[in-house]
Parts: sequence; C-alpha cells; structure tokens
Amino acid sequence: MSLRVLVVEDDKEIRALVQSALALEGFEVQTAVSLSEAQALVQHSPPALIVLDLGLPDGEGLQLVQAVRRGSSLPIVVISARHQEAQKIALLDAGADDYLSKPFSVAELLARMRVALRHRGTALAPAVTTHVLDDLQVNLGTRSVTRAGEPVHLTPTEYALLACLVRSAGKVLTHRQLLAEVWGPEYTEHTHYLRLYMAQLRAKIERNPAEPRHLLTETGVGYRLAAE
Ligand code: CA
Repeated sequence: MSLRVLVVEDDKEIRALVQSALALEGFEVQTAVSLSEAQALVQHSPPALIVLDLGLPDGEGLQLVQAVRRGSSLPIVVISARHQEAQKIALLDAGADDYLSKPFSVAELLARMRVALRHRGTALAPAVTTHVLDDLQVNLGTRSVTRAGEPVHLTPTEYALLACLVRSAGKVLTHRQLLAEVWGPEYTEHTHYLRLYMAQLRAKIERNPAEPRHLLTETGVGYRLAAE
C-alpha cells in the first residue's frame, strides 16, 4: 500500500511539480490550495505526511501545524520562500519536522520526507542509537564516538549536544530546541552557549572545522547533523 501525502501549496506550478514527482516515487498524492481545504482533508482522513507551503491565501501554514500537533504526530515538511526565516523557526518550534527553501530540488524534498517519516515512525520503530557517516561513528548505547577509528573524547555537554543531533540525524533542530534539550528550558535564549559548544564539537569531529561536513549550520535557524 502506498503512503498518502498531502501537498498544501497555492502556487500552481510548484504544486504540479511536487505532485508529479511524488507520484513518480510511488506516493499517493492529495493536494490542497488553501488552509481551510487542508484542514478539512486532514480532519477527514489524515495523510502519512504533509508537505506544507508557508504562505497560503487564507492564512499561515503555522496555523495548520498548530492544529495538527494538538492531536497528532504526523510528519510535516515545510516549503517556504527564503526571506521567511523567522516564520520557519516558529514553525519548527511549533512541531514541523523540517523545511526547504524555494527553489528546492525534488531529490532534497524526498530526502527530507524520508527523514521525517523515519523520525515520526510508529511507536514500534526502534529509536535511533547509532550514527555512521564517512569517518564518524557514534553509538549512543555504549556512549562511544570515534573518528577514523580513533576514540573522540567529549565533555558531558559536548556529548549531550551530539547525542541530541544523532537522535534527529538528517533533521534540522532550532537553536531553541537544542538549548532546551541540552541545557534546559530556561536556557533557550542562550544561543552563545550553543555557538561555543558547536565550535568545540566541530574541532573534535570535523576534518576541517571551517568547512564542516557533519555538523551543518542552518543559517538563522539552527543545526543539522548530516545523514546521507
Ligand atoms: Ca504560497
């Protein structure tokens, strides 16, 4: 049985492009051109995933994220124009899984969808406990981190930060989400902590910390651990 995806986008060209690309990948695709239409479809029969445009004729994508998150964990991937940075952060903090800036490639969209589906998998899906990419290996079960086979020694905070990223590998995490998770909810404004510890982690994990391949910066939004 193919997974049903709801594409919410008022731009006719982008909607058609996404629809045909997803259909080609074997997804069953449903489309909505407005917030109200999307809300009705989600209520009537929730899809396996929502691809959501931010600016819709009758409201903001954020409203749909908030409405969906009141009762469901179904994955939501946001597509937005580049200038909508602050809105993107609000969406991610409200529970959207990831975002793509326009123009985006279909390959990027499919990669983000795969990660979101994996992370929101059923309660029976095992939690992510290991991460391997290129020369980096992380095992959360044994708390071991190696680079090119050599053990990497991390402080407890560095490890907590890396573990948080590993559990969401491939997915963007906002500054607020990382700070709340690693330092606690009262530290969500302390972005300088994050900058400092991210620099330390990069120095230990990246071959060239100035050009990170693992710990990627999502400008103005947060960080992402590269996954594929
Ligand atoms: Ca739009």
